[in-house]
Amino acid sequence: MLTAPQFTSFNPPRRILMGPGPSDVYPQVLAAQAKPTIGHLDPLFIGMMDELKQLLQYAFQTTNPMTIAVSAPGSAGMETCFVNLVEPGEKVIVCRNGVFGERMRQNVERCGGVAVCVDNAWGEPVSPEQVEDTLKQHPDARFLAFVHAETSTGALSDAKALCALATQYDCISIVDAVTSLGGVELRVDEWGIDAIYSGSQKCLSCVPGLSPVSFSEKAVAKIQQRKRPVQSWFLDQSLVMAYWSGQGKRSYHHTAPVNSLYALHEALRLLATEGLEHAWQRHRAMHQLLAKGLTSLGLEFVVAEPYRLPQLNSVYIPAGADDVRLRSTLLNEYNLEIGAGLGELSGRAWRLGLMGYGARRENVALCIQALSEQLA
Ligand code: PLP
Repeated sequence: MLTAPQFTSFNPPRRILMGPGPSDVYPQVLAAQAKPTIGHLDPLFIGMMDELKQLLQYAFQTTNPMTIAVSAPGSAGMETCFVNLVEPGEKVIVCRNGVFGERMRQNVERCGGVAVCVDNAWGEPVSPEQVEDTLKQHPDARFLAFVHAETSTGALSDAKALCALATQYDCISIVDAVTSLGGVELRVDEWGIDAIYSGSQKCLSCVPGLSPVSFSEKAVAKIQQRKRPVQSWFLDQSLVMAYWSGQGKRSYHHTAPVNSLYALHEALRLLATEGLEHAWQRHRAMHQLLAKGLTSLGLEFVVAEPYRLPQLNSVYIPAGADDVRLRSTLLNEYNLEIGAGLGELSGRAWRLGLMGYGARRENVALCIQALSEQLA
């Protein structure tokens, strides 16, 4: 017998999360998650799931019936799109301008697909001109995959223009909206997005661990025409939909994360109450306030102004500042988490998140005050 370890309950401090995610969770969302667990096939739970689906459709601005929350984080949403859609030998144009575009390429190759990469420098948006040239050179491409809001740099790409190109060249678009959903304009149906995934822990300000996903009719038709079953049993949408379809009786696929789904329902309910356009505007207003403060401290943005994400502000670390020491001082003395640079920007930039509930005036003020004291 191993000896039973004796620990006290874990009591996390109340931090202010201004990094790349997870973001500050709404108190109402934390309260929703603490409600009693009921069965995931309980009629009352199923009623909540029907509402949840409508709330997801609102957040994505889509009427796609295949709109669900995958029971796992954003990476599983990404994988859900690739494993269901891409079959061996199929060509996918993958746009890379940061960490997450490169992850898309890895997903394509693990599905046996052929990735053709369109590269843009870190900090720049995806270039629609380069994408169009590549689409012309590869008329056999079946998909166009890109990241709407690149969290590793803070760059926003033009999803509307890129999806229009996908449609024009008869490709299925696969869009990463992990950081964009709820924080910047995103219109799935109007922009003709075919497959999209997000995460619960960014601008939705929900607990981490769920991934909203939506497939258009065109994407669903592609899945239905597959020659072989999806290699992942868990992520196979044709099986998952037995639980999520809402048509008739829902049947067991896997045990739904009941309490996390209460949390997502509440986070999306709050978003719908605020109104999407108001939420987008609030993120923009708080970003402008933060940018003004950062500029007055002499900090320089990684991304040029027209492409800056309001919800993820990357600034270069000024000469002489100690990256690790400053971030740990903010954490320990101000209870404030900011993000380190990732990949090419590791040790060179900080990433300041203003996501969902975190996009508030008092957070901006605290962040500017802490940085001005510590950089003085
Ligand atoms: N895509 C983007 C743009 C992200 O920012 C992230 C996470 O930060 C992911 C995908 C992966 O999501 P998760 O960490 O929830 O698995």
